[in-house]
Formats: sequence, structure tokens, C-alpha cells
Amino acid sequence: MDSEDFRKWSRRAADWGADYRDTLRERPVRARTQPGDIAALIAPSAPEKPEPMEQIFADFERDIMPGMTHWQHPRFFAYFPANAAPVSVVAEYLVSAMAAQCMLWQTSPAATELETKVIDWLRQALALPEAFSGVIQDSASSATLSAVLTMRERALKWSGNRNGLAGQPRLRVYSSDQVHTSIDRAIWVSGIGEENLVRIPTGGRWRSMAPSALDAAIEADRAAGFLPVGVIGCVGGTSVGGTDDISAIGAIARKHGLYLHVDAAWAGSAMICPEFRHFWSGVEQADSIVFNPHKWLGAQFDCSVHFVRDPDSLVRTLAIKPEYLKTHGKDGIVNYSEWTVPLGRRFRALKLWFLLRAHGLEGLRAMIRNHVRWSGNLASRLAGVPGFEIVTEPMLSLFTFRHQARDESRTDEHNLALISAINDDGRIYLTQTKVDGRVAIRFQAGQFETTEADVEVAFDVITSIASSLNDHAT
Ligand SMILES: *Cc1c(COP(=O)(O)O)cnc(C)c1O
Repeated sequence: MDSEDFRKWSRRAADWGADYRDTLRERPVRARTQPGDIAALIAPSAPEKPEPMEQIFADFERDIMPGMTHWQHPRFFAYFPANAAPVSVVAEYLVSAMAAQCMLWQTSPAATELETKVIDWLRQALALPEAFSGVIQDSASSATLSAVLTMRERALKWSGNRNGLAGQPRLRVYSSDQVHTSIDRAIWVSGIGEENLVRIPTGGRWRSMAPSALDAAIEADRAAGFLPVGVIGCVGGTSVGGTDDISAIGAIARKHGLYLHVDAAWAGSAMICPEFRHFWSGVEQADSIVFNPHKWLGAQFDCSVHFVRDPDSLVRTLAIKPEYLKTHGKDGIVNYSEWTVPLGRRFRALKLWFLLRAHGLEGLRAMIRNHVRWSGNLASRLAGVPGFEIVTEPMLSLFTFRHQARDESRTDEHNLALISAINDDGRIYLTQTKVDGRVAIRFQAGQFETTEADVEVAFDVITSIASSLNDHAT
């Protein structure tokens, strides 16, 4: 592709992107294809001869687009959001054009220095103490893995990477039963093993682990010869927003000399609003915190921020310095690849810089406050409709509900059927969870361009489909 064609097709892609965003509300949120439908349209092997761009682009629109679920749809209320504010997409275009590999300071000094700055902007925006620095990762899963490896190495006096875990005492990590599966995987991959992830039962409105139970579990493990290494606190769990009392569990972690990692992958963005910070009060005691600006803040997916109190522990755990990666003669520089498991790193700071400047913290706070308010209003309205039950009250913009089946013994099946019918309808997209063993439907508002009217559409869709399902039930 020569420069003229590159210009032409880049413009075409820009127009396509704007048209796409303009027409999202007309599209079904979730793809309507069946498994294998799209694969059947793709050539079995790569072509030997070049194909014309016109053809490739036309096939993209014809064959690929029908198989896409639209995460930027303003009525995407499923899972948690994976956002891409248009301004951050523009920054990503620039990053793609350069495709810099930002593993070391010298492999793009601006990328490293901007990363340090925007991390500090975010630290201030979240009102975290100056003691925290951080690094941008691809995902919260990677940040949590780095944190678990660090707690492992710290407890083993930095010998685990060298000697492996054989012959060591059994390591123990503590979390609530509400944590994300990324915690399980970090425990597997770090060699600690699932059996050594001690899940403390949760209770109360925010489904928090009882600090006394955490304390007792650590004491009992110590007495049994295990080696407790760390605690993982949850703020805004994926299922229903489960949130630990970070102050209380932080005090226990400190008492036992354990590392504290806080997973606020979704809820962390809301902490730019002072009125929501009570959800993680005590977070300044953490050794590390992860939150994903790509979820609720609007940064183009992917972008996860891993704050650390003591970068030396992280670097001591992860840095490998062969000669070819050394930067001689420069003191005080940061090589962010020493802070992460992957060596190669994309330039993710640029989209944060564009986003934070173009919207300002006030703009982003207004968006998050709106989402929380609209979601709360929807929960209140649903609660007033006969047959609907709010299962878990809103935690920020996430709540769960269920609809009563005609035949009460079939409520789980009825709610699964309701989810399918809603998602087949296409105007909104919701997902389910289980609360105390029973099916509940999750609702969260968090897409960057969602409006109050979109949330009102959700009310109409949910109530009308639920009543027609019951009318048709035999
Ligand atoms: C989304 C989420 C994760 C996983 O995030 P990835 O960036 O996809 O790895 C972990 N924890 C919580 C609470 C989440 O909401």
C-alpha cells in the first residue's frame, strides 16, 4: 500500500467509524449469528496473490460486521462496559500509525514519560496518596497476576523465581467469594494453586468478607504451617458489585505483614467522584490497586492501570536485564517492561492523555454520575412493577433483578428465557448471574454515549417482554 492509498483508506476507515457510531442505535446490540456462521464465509487459506482493498473492505462489511456485538452501542447494558470514547479512538489511530514498541525508555522516551505523567494525573483524580506510582497494562488480569507474583516473591524473600515452589511451605492467598476469575487464574499461573486461595464468605449489603473471619483464617493457616502471602480485596465485583471493607481488611493484612492488592477494575473509574470514594475507603493502605480506564472512564479498550506503592518489589519480581535491554548512561529512567509480564508494550498512555484533556475530569464525572443516577432510577421503576423484584440493590450503576414466573417453581428458567428473548429482540443487551444459587439479571449503565432515553428504552423492553413471556407461558 503506497502513501496515497494509505491516505485514501485511512479516510475511508475514519468515515466508516463515524457512520458506524451514528447508526449504532439502529443495530441489534448482540450479534444474531449462530456458531460457525462467520467462519463458513472465510476462505480456508490465505490468498497467494494480493487482493484489491475494495474487495477486502467490502467483505469486511458484508461478512464480518454481521457477526459483531456492539460494545459501543449506547444500549449495551451487559457485563461491564469496554469503552472507546471517540477522542481516544483518534489517539489510537495515531498510535497504530506509529506502532511504537514502548518496552524501554529509549524505545520511545515520550511514551514512557507521558505514561508516568498520566498515571500521576489519574492518581490525583482518584485522590490516592503520592506514594503510589503505576504502570499501564493490557488488562486487570495481567495487573493482578503481577501483584500475586509480587506477593509470592516478597513472602519467599525473592527466592521463588529462582528455586520454584517445590520444597517451600504452602503459600496462602485470601479473598472474598465475590472476586473475579482473574484472581483464580493469577493463583494458578503463579504456581500457588487454587486450593491455596482461601475464599472468605461474604455477607451484608455489599457482600463483604467478614474481617474477623479473614483474621481467623490467617491465624489458623499460620498455626497449621502454611505461609500466608497476601490478601486480595474486591471493590465492585463482577457478579453483583461485591465490595470489601478495605479499611478493615487492610488493617488485618498489615497486622500479619501481608501484601494487599485491591481489584477495582470496574468501580475504580467512579472514584474520580468524591462521593463514591467511601466504597474503597482505606485503599491508601493497599500495596497495589488495579482499575481499567477502558471499562467506565471511556479510554479505548484496552487500558488497565496498575498502581503500586513500592515499584521496587514489582521490578524485583519481574525485571530481567539481559545486556541487549540495558540503557547505558541514563540515570533515573523508567523501563516499564520491567513492571509487567510481557516485554513488548503498546503506547497506551496517549489515549488517556487525549481523553482526560478533551473531556476534563468534570466531563467524566458528569457521565459517571448520570449512569449511576439513571441506573438507580431504573431499579426504582422496576421495583414498582408487579412481578419484578430487585435482587441486589444498586452498587454504583450495577443492580440485579428478576421477574416472577407464572409458575413460581420455574422462576430460574423463566428469567433465562427472559434474557434470551430480550437479547434476541436486539434493542438492549443484558447478561445474567446467580445470586445465592438463583438466576438474576444484571443491569449496568456505563457506555460512554448512553443517554437517559436509552435507559428508558431498557425499562420498556424489559417490562413488555417479561409480560408477553408470562402471557405465552402454559
Ligand atoms: C473486568 C474485571 C476484571 C478483569 O478485567 P480484564 O481487564 O478483562 O482482565 C477483573 N476484576 C473485576 C472486578 C472486573 O470487573
